Amino acid sequence: MRPLILDSIFRSLRTLDGVGPKSATLFEKLLGGEKIIDLLRHKPVDCIHRGDIKPLSEINKEGIATTQVTITSHSPAKRRGAPYRISAKGDDGQVMDIVYFNAPGQWLKDTYPTDKEIIISGKIEFYNDKIQILHPDYAVPPEKKNEIKAFEPIYPMTGGLSPKLLHKAIIGGIKHLPTLPEWIDDSMIKKHGWLGWSECMRALHNPQSSKETLSDSVTRTRLAYDEALARQLAMQLVRLTFKKKKGISFNNAPDLRQKLLDALPFDLTGAQSRTLSEIDDDMGTPTRMLRLLQGDVGSGKTVVALGTMLNCINDGFQSAMMAPTEILARQHAETLQPLCDAIGVTMITLTGRDKGKDRTAILEKIENGEAQIVIGTHAIFQDTVNFKNLGCVVIDEQHRFGVHQRLSLSDKGVAPDVLVMTATPIPRTLTLSLFGDMDVSRLDEKPPGRKPIETVLISTDRIADIAQGLKRKIAEGERIYWVCPLVEESEKIELANAEDRHTLLSQIYGDRVGLVHGRMKPLEKDQVMQKFARGDLDILVATTVIEVGVNVPEATVMIIEHAERFGLAQLHQLRGRVGRGSDKSSCILMYNAPLSEAGKERLSIMKKSEDGFVIAEKDLELRGAGEVLGTKQSGLPAMHFVDLDNHRDLMQMAHQDARLLTEKDPTLSTRRGDALKTLLYLFEQDEAVKTLGSG
Ligand code: ADP
Ligand code: MG
Repeated sequence: MRPLILDSIFRSLRTLDGVGPKSATLFEKLLGGEKIIDLLRHKPVDCIHRGDIKPLSEINKEGIATTQVTITSHSPAKRRGAPYRISAKGDDGQVMDIVYFNAPGQWLKDTYPTDKEIIISGKIEFYNDKIQILHPDYAVPPEKKNEIKAFEPIYPMTGGLSPKLLHKAIIGGIKHLPTLPEWIDDSMIKKHGWLGWSECMRALHNPQSSKETLSDSVTRTRLAYDEALARQLAMQLVRLTFKKKKGISFNNAPDLRQKLLDALPFDLTGAQSRTLSEIDDDMGTPTRMLRLLQGDVGSGKTVVALGTMLNCINDGFQSAMMAPTEILARQHAETLQPLCDAIGVTMITLTGRDKGKDRTAILEKIENGEAQIVIGTHAIFQDTVNFKNLGCVVIDEQHRFGVHQRLSLSDKGVAPDVLVMTATPIPRTLTLSLFGDMDVSRLDEKPPGRKPIETVLISTDRIADIAQGLKRKIAEGERIYWVCPLVEESEKIELANAEDRHTLLSQIYGDRVGLVHGRMKPLEKDQVMQKFARGDLDILVATTVIEVGVNVPEATVMIIEHAERFGLAQLHQLRGRVGRGSDKSSCILMYNAPLSEAGKERLSIMKKSEDGFVIAEKDLELRGAGEVLGTKQSGLPAMHFVDLDNHRDLMQMAHQDARLLTEKDPTLSTRRGDALKTLLYLFEQDEAVKTLGSG
């Protein structure tokens, strides 16, 4: 259970003064959470120095300032669009104008009552030698001067929420900060000059300069270390618990492996053989396997997965393979069925869609061991599913990174070995921060005989030509993906773009054009994708949802609009949707001219290389880790304080510290361990804390 000491900040932010039901929705949109701690993690990106209140006579340069004046007169706008001027004077007679465009007259009269004193803050300019301020940031009567801070933090905002309300909520939230036990070593605190966590959080929201809002400030560094430590510690704990259970030492007898090799119409690639022998080594020992298999789409992971599973079946155990979606599970099953038949192994599929009698029958076969291989979605790890003797689990993550959260799923009965597969090549330098100490295999060699995908760059101006040009392809029975980009700020725009494109193409190709987008229900999405897979549609217009999509060997053309807005890794993944059949494939990267030099360089890499590992390294080099992994498209849990580009060393340090800490105190039961538990809860690594009590 979360320690009580954290309750005050894990409460809903609706309990704060000034946050009503309506603004709460906006806060939740901005923060991605609804707790006070979510609010407090919202960090300023800059700081405005308004200074103390200065007499008007002392203001002699342009820039942000705060001053106290007396309003002398109003000159309303002479016509629409003309300025509304409010004249004011300072203590010893200087004058200034406060200027507004298109502001309601009554509001101005109420805010700036004539002959009254007022404090204003904003950007001072000199206009015809007169001091002027256009739309002040603040205008308050003297008794409310505390509303204007000398240093004002600037936060990312969302439409509809005012900075004033956000500031007020944060000030309210800060009052709830508890004093927590220190989890960092004394000597380390001294060495870096760090404050305690609560003081750091207070300092975070009270920056005294722009510099203090940068990720390498002392305050931000400590908070980033905390976050990195929580993450690394959680990974260590999950790993330790995982490894603590004695695994199965498989014999790896060659019988079924040989049958597999005989059944395959091809030879394994060098990378596949190497990977399988790494897996065999792991499985041959009584320590549980926890291995990550990275390989591009099409690099041949499925065969490796089957080879892995056969190792257990050889020894009389069952194997399971889990896919992220229903479609993918069914696809794996389709691919594996003929091979299983040839080898003489019984395979069964279980997804959420199996109901009633069918489901009961499937569950029975899993329980009595008749099903040797079980393929499915996460449904295969529900409580109602009981394996007779599960020996290994293959988790196909595709493009997600939930590895550590999912390990507990494999904790059924015996302690199975685990192979996690991902189609996202991760640059070597980043694997540590993402996967901790996981063992890694890489399929860095493509099966032979693949035709290269021709990649071309074409300006959006030629969209009509491209749309028309597809006629020829369709006449030849080819199918086309047309991808509209993710618009991170606005789902509405994103949807509108995709709909526009769908309309444009439908005008030419009628009802042979389908549309899938992120707002659709999974079932609807599946249905459209299936129609495309069956050939009932020639063109599939999609937002990036097809990333984890179906395998359609007849699809030979990938068109990506606004390719310059995508990360290289994403472009690579999308391109990997074509080139799966025997026909020659192409990829058209459309861009909005003119393309920047950097943009050109990035897109030309796509022309030059089809190797996901090379592209991932280049992407990292050109855009930095924050861009590569920091977006929601990456599938990574958000990092609040860690800046993957500037905190690489810090991550490394946290990794080592987490290791030492868990070596010394694996159950976190010392006083320091107790503080570390608080840290884990603070960063919502509750799952990891739970592992402490198990095993
Ligand atoms: P991944 O799961 O990594 O995306 P798959 O396992 O689906 O890739 O393999 C892609 C295609 O390549 C499949 O049609 C598969 O049969 C084929 N394939 C796999 N390994 C080889 C190989 N060694 N030689 C030739 N073709 C292969
Ligand atoms: Mg696959």
